[in-house]
Amino acid sequence: MAKSPWSEPVAQALRADGIELAALHPSATPGFEGGKAAGARLLAERSRVLSDLQEKLFANGRSGDSRSVLLVLQGMDTAGKGGIVRHVIGSVDPQGVDHAAFGVPTPAEKRHHYLWRIRKQLPRGGQIGVFDRSHYEDVLVVRVHNLVPPEVWSTRYDEINEFERELVDAGTTLVKVAMFVSLDEQKKRLARRLDRRDKYWKFNPADIDERGFWPAYREAYQAMLDRTSTAHAPWYVLPADRKWFSRLAVTELLIDALSGLDLDWPPARFDVEEQKRRLAAS
Ligand code: ADP
Repeated sequence: MAKSPWSEPVAQALRADGIELAALHPSATPGFEGGKAAGARLLAERSRVLSDLQEKLFANGRSGDSRSVLLVLQGMDTAGKGGIVRHVIGSVDPQGVDHAAFGVPTPAEKRHHYLWRIRKQLPRGGQIGVFDRSHYEDVLVVRVHNLVPPEVWSTRYDEINEFERELVDAGTTLVKVAMFVSLDEQKKRLARRLDRRDKYWKFNPADIDERGFWPAYREAYQAMLDRTSTAHAPWYVLPADRKWFSRLAVTELLIDALSGLDLDWPPARFDVEEQKRRLAAS
């Protein structure tokens, strides 16, 4: 068998425990010893494994299994959350995916507790849920821009841990991925959006203002990792300057999560031989 290009399991290489964001290299590829070409080849292969596992999860869901997987993606603008949705989640059957993106809360959402809109989008049994941003915005953008007072946001870490405990107990495996792009790479990605007519729709002038808040965001992200990376719902820290690595790493994390469910094909709920006889005679 060919030697694996991974020097350690991805879940271990990206585990958030004890990480110092100030020392993170966004262009690193922790645990992966190959380059871009090897990464792309492996991604094609591993996407098929992911797709097979997802079909099994879906089949079990159809047979009444209430378990699900929820991928939570957090990251600054241009970190590549959309690319993960398109390229990683795009490789599995869309009927098995519950996707939700969370932007600035609508007036109706603002009238409720911040977890209200999150609860409404939780994946059903048999589904892979994908959150493009999430309840964590309520301890990130909200903290950085003082959208609520500190005594309000500071209670949310424990509340989120309890909320996620509930989800896990109900059969959801959480895969939380925080994506970090360097300020230089972000500048390049934003410049590309301004250079191309087909990218204007992705550009938001406010993204440039947010760059000035990076130190405050780093502090908020650090607090999020320190306080909400739990045994039941750990965070993974993904250096995101190299898109091919981001996609490969998230694919592996999802394969890990699905493999952990120990899925098999659900047994037939009918007598197979009898149905074969009936079909032959029809
Ligand atoms: P994107 O920029 O990811 O393509 P949108 O423009 O629809 O998506 O919305 C994202 C914006 O919504 C981000 O600036 C994000 O910080 C903001 N946002 C998300 N959740 C909240 C929240 N709970 N409170 C305030 N702003 C939020």
